[in-house]
Amino acid sequence: MTRWLAEYAWLPDHAEPTPDVLIEAEGGRITAVTPLVGGGAAPAGVEVLGDAVRLPGLTLPGLANAHSHAFHRALRGRTHGGRGDFWSWRDVMYDVAARLDPDSYLALARAAYAEMALAGITCVGEFHYLHHGSEGRPYADPNAMSAALVEAAAHAGIRITLLDTAYLTASVDGAELAGTQRRFGDGDALRWAERVDAFRPENDHARLGAAIHSVRAVPAEQLATVAGWADRNGVPLHVHLSEQPAENDACRAVHGCSPTRLLADHGVLGPHTTAVHATHPTSADVALLGESRTGVCLCPTTERDLADGIGPARRMAEAGSPLSLGSDSHAVVDLFEEARAVELDERLRTRKRGHFSAAELVTAATVGGHAALGWGDAGRLSVGDRADLVTVRLDSARTAGVPPVGAFFTATAADVTHVVVDGRTVVADGRHLTVDVPAELHAAIREVTS
Ligand SMILES: [Zn+2]
Repeated sequence: MTRWLAEYAWLPDHAEPTPDVLIEAEGGRITAVTPLVGGGAAPAGVEVLGDAVRLPGLTLPGLANAHSHAFHRALRGRTHGGRGDFWSWRDVMYDVAARLDPDSYLALARAAYAEMALAGITCVGEFHYLHHGSEGRPYADPNAMSAALVEAAAHAGIRITLLDTAYLTASVDGAELAGTQRRFGDGDALRWAERVDAFRPENDHARLGAAIHSVRAVPAEQLATVAGWADRNGVPLHVHLSEQPAENDACRAVHGCSPTRLLADHGVLGPHTTAVHATHPTSADVALLGESRTGVCLCPTTERDLADGIGPARRMAEAGSPLSLGSDSHAVVDLFEEARAVELDERLRTRKRGHFSAAELVTAATVGGHAALGWGDAGRLSVGDRADLVTVRLDSARTAGVPPVGAFFTATAADVTHVVVDGRTVVADGRHLTVDVPAELHAAIREVTS
């Protein structure tokens, strides 16, 4: 039994944090959540042991990073020298991809995931398409790269949903993969499924999911094969959707419809599916996503970094799409920044304030993200859920004097002091307990960029 005494805790279905909450856990699960009456006095029958770990500040449930490409962390700060757009950024990204192998990817992902742990992220959704060796030759273990990512998450102390991504063609009209892209391809969707079937991460910290890279990368007639595999295995299915107007234009030219319509017609949408970005949907697309209860994962810091645009977050939420958040390219790893960007981007677009409440943003960053990654038992400070705790200090230069309800609009990842994942302490006093994060990031990135 472990006990924590949170100065403030964000409890489920509360509009704001509750003061003085005793949280107890055993075997990695929360066994009791008890608000103490009047700031310290325990209700009858509840004993506050002297060995309860005190958590000064605001304690949140674990944050879920629902969209990651771990190797993009090596690009941070290297793509700002000139002009360009998503497509020129992608060329630089391919240069790094070309240099990775299972050993160097393990080192880079371990450091990247440990940075996420420092930021309060207890679970990552890794949208993984760098499957094969140079020129597309499979490794002796065709899932060696997937295994490296699962091992990296274990070293960093966080959970992972490995979203094994089908990436088969270079364009909507079916152009063959070329250059570095050949490392992504399995030939066709059946061979993709065959490879993924051979990989079963056997560990409590890892789950498998599926992904369709985009309508550019999976031919229309093979979409149902990937969606059917996810459905049969009862796992989440993710897909990049309408990140770029050029994707919409190409899809219309080839198929005569929007990417969302194409996915809907091939059985891809639904409550177990998450559309990543959805930056440029039509009104009809927003309705299709909402009516099917397809989730939407917003990645605002990447979308701003790549000059993608601003997605209609409020309209998609109102149409029925649950929201989650991702750091995607890792230009920034800070879910507080992602969360407030959802609100602030709406303000810039509409010139009005107040689109999302703090509680809605907390939901997207916690239970929304975990649900999108297939962890229905995480993301809430409630009995029976996984014991994930993320404590944010309220006495830093950024947060001093801020009411706890305002922390999501003021705190940064640097204000996270204590992180518990499945009952185990991973970060204490702002330090990762097993990984020297800056040193490992430096070494791993030098290895693949110098
Ligand atoms: Zn992505």
